[in-house]
Amino acid sequence: AGKIWYKTKIAVIGAGQAGLSTAYHLKKMGLEIGRDFIILDAAPSAGGAWQSRWDSLTLSTVNRIHDLPGMSFEETIQGDEKEVRANIAVPHYYDLYEKEFGLQVYRPVKVEKVSLNGERFYIDTSSVSFSALGIINATGTWENPYIPEYPGAKLFKGEQLHTRNFKNAEYFRGKHVIIVGGGISAIQLLDQISKVTTTTWVTRRPPEFREGPFDDMAGSLAVAMVDKRVRSGLLPTSVVSVTGLPVTDEIKNMEKRGVLKRFPMFSEITEEGVKWEDGRQEKADVILWNTGFRWSLSHLDAVLPKEEGGGIIMSGRLATEVSKEPRIHLVGYGPSASTIGANRAGSAAARELVKTLGIEK
Ligand code: FAD
Repeated sequence: AGKIWYKTKIAVIGAGQAGLSTAYHLKKMGLEIGRDFIILDAAPSAGGAWQSRWDSLTLSTVNRIHDLPGMSFEETIQGDEKEVRANIAVPHYYDLYEKEFGLQVYRPVKVEKVSLNGERFYIDTSSVSFSALGIINATGTWENPYIPEYPGAKLFKGEQLHTRNFKNAEYFRGKHVIIVGGGISAIQLLDQISKVTTTTWVTRRPPEFREGPFDDMAGSLAVAMVDKRVRSGLLPTSVVSVTGLPVTDEIKNMEKRGVLKRFPMFSEITEEGVKWEDGRQEKADVILWNTGFRWSLSHLDAVLPKEEGGGIIMSGRLATEVSKEPRIHLVGYGPSASTIGANRAGSAAARELVKTLGIEK
């Protein structure tokens, strides 16, 4: 009782690549920020999840950061492009972007729960609360690390960490580290950690390496595959998971150093380490799970209809629209989970939602 709900038309939740691109398009369509739409973000400063990534992730080790609409990323990079930390360069770019286009973000504001009453969504947050006619959700995945369940996990006396917790390799010196996962992050962390200590690499399936560059064709095919999944209500797989691992110089070097020897997944975790089905055991000080992320959508549980497969049926251009609730769009989800995909999804979602709500200027 007595709670004030500030009224707006569209609430954009999250100010990473997807949220900022959305906001740019809403503004370009003539909607007024602070009145017709608002942007809420849980992080302390500009940068989306990029501000939390590890220091050794430089612009030469990321795939590629696509420009947000209307402003070049490259021109904002300070220093030697290859050596610049992604967790500095991208937040700097987003910060300039917000200022250039007058996209004031309310932060840190964490959306805790969204509920629907009549024609309005009620948005409960860690501070001021809002009500809106439509939602464009752009909360990414970083807040929702995924670790699969294995028997014995609670017995383990060592440390279990996730990609999200990685700060630097030095932390692991002198410890034996079991590195789980077959994606790009797993390989990059295995490379760095194996230079300062002993490692064992386990993956569910043998990783698939891809010769040659990652071109637009491969990217489009991967996006199309994920798009097909979410249109039928299946949980999206990550776009990177279908593109394979590029054979880089680092990988050739790891091969030479003998750290790319891969073991299948263990079947249980013990007090001291891990155990395979055939009875073989290995001691470990750390299990580092590079097993990915799931979409951070729990704040929408009360308003998002879920399918049997655990996914959400998406429709619209670039599959941003929740088909049973066209007033909610998810950007950065499924096929749009990359910096370029987030861009395109932001534009599609802004246009579609403004039309659905009939609030064109
Ligand atoms: P985010 O950047 O995660 O932004 C989401 C924002 O929402 C955050 O600021 C968060 O604080 C906020 N938020 C979350 N929950 C709430 C809530 N409840 N209330 C309010 N705010 C909330 N993609 C590429 O295209 N190229 C690359 O080279 C690349 N490298 C990557 C490297 C790593 C290690 C990882 C993990 C991912 C990489 N990706 C890359 C994927 C890339 O991060 C995403 O595609 C893109 O940056 C995600 O943008 P986003 O806006 O969807 O999410």
